[in-house]
Amino acid sequence: EATRQLLRIVIVGHVDHGKSTLVGRLFHDTGSLPEGKLEAIRRMCERRGMPFEWAFLMDAMQAERDQGITIDTSQIWFKTEKRDYTIIDAPGHKEFLKNMITGAAQADAAVLVIDATEGVREQSRRHGYLLHLLGVRQIAVAVNKMDAVAYSEDVFAEIETEYRAYLNSIGVVPTFVVPVSAREGDNIATVSPRMPWYTGPSIVEALDSFALPTAHLDRPLRLPVQDVYKFDDRRIIAGRIESGRLHVGDELVFSPSNKTARVKSIEVWPEPADKDARPQTVGAGQCVGITLDEQLFIERGDIASHLTNAPIETEVFRAKIFWLGREPLTKGKSYKMKLATSEARVSVQEIEHVLDTTDLSSAAMDRVERNQVGEVVLRARRLLALDEHNRNSRTGRFVLIDGYDIAGGGIISMEGYADQRQL
Ligand code: GDP
Repeated sequence: EATRQLLRIVIVGHVDHGKSTLVGRLFHDTGSLPEGKLEAIRRMCERRGMPFEWAFLMDAMQAERDQGITIDTSQIWFKTEKRDYTIIDAPGHKEFLKNMITGAAQADAAVLVIDATEGVREQSRRHGYLLHLLGVRQIAVAVNKMDAVAYSEDVFAEIETEYRAYLNSIGVVPTFVVPVSAREGDNIATVSPRMPWYTGPSIVEALDSFALPTAHLDRPLRLPVQDVYKFDDRRIIAGRIESGRLHVGDELVFSPSNKTARVKSIEVWPEPADKDARPQTVGAGQCVGITLDEQLFIERGDIASHLTNAPIETEVFRAKIFWLGREPLTKGKSYKMKLATSEARVSVQEIEHVLDTTDLSSAAMDRVERNQVGEVVLRARRLLALDEHNRNSRTGRFVLIDGYDIAGGGIISMEGYADQRQL
């Protein structure tokens, strides 16, 4: 059997709008549940005298995952005929925003849930904005609990219009807006006869129509250096290739130090008995060790690339920052920045714009409060190697640390700022 495709999705939306229920349904209606699971949970509910909730399925899977019972301990997944899906963040997870912002959770697509009885709420807007900021472009909006509004076309139309208007104002075109009842299973895996006025796809059909992530292989090479190991008299430079390909013999430049050398070998572990079996080429997603034809002083945090299409080198840059810090971000304050494997001290040189993500109003410009997005100019004390986020999402984003806490996540844009690279 050919290897199955995998799409990583996040389920987002306001608390209690039905995210966990939807996940339970997705598992069940796609036939992805382990045998007897549903029955076990129904029995458990009876024993305890409480009504069955689809959300318990997800809680149970989560608990098993945490205890390491499920074989695939890293992720929850369900499958359709077309492909496998991983839900990379559990709804209601306290760290959800943080995971999204730090890139711990990189989603290919999203389902955004809105309760039809409540309409568009604060988090419906905030999460929509965050998806946009992080570049998630494949979004299915699920208008849930349609059973509770008598499957009314008018209620659906009103919410669809309002939410589309919000998304359009931030430049997002949702791929689909689907009326569903997660509890009753309407328009989840199949199109429901209860809403004949709706002619679009079910949630699963919408997900199946989404494209797989574009191959990072075809982008310029980025190898952020994780570590340098001394091994016999060799120096092995280790890291994960975030994008592009690397071949033995390639000339590399390490930014921001601008040292260049050729790749002498690509090391793999364990070392093959036959030395000729060592790979000649490796690509995006692979963790590698390489040796060079010259002994350069390379450090963790350097980014290796080819000479053409190297990352930008700069001390100042502009970024959009989604702020989570307890203390507001203020002009003049300095933070620790982590970008790929590098760390640097940066200070806030300018706050150009502050946006409230729930109503898109502009706010006072001397600080960025929690849950606001600030367009700011940051300055580092040394040269940094980075990319614009729209050119490379892995080396074009960073987090800011205030003390010991992740206080914000940023997306880089160089508009109005020059690349200082001098080769
Ligand atoms: P979450 O906080 O977004 O994960 O929301 P839950 O999935 O826990 O659901 C919150 C409440 O809404 C629960 O009481 C669910 O039973 C209820 N609920 C979820 N989906 C539906 C639905 O399609 N119809 C109705 N009537 N209630 C639902």
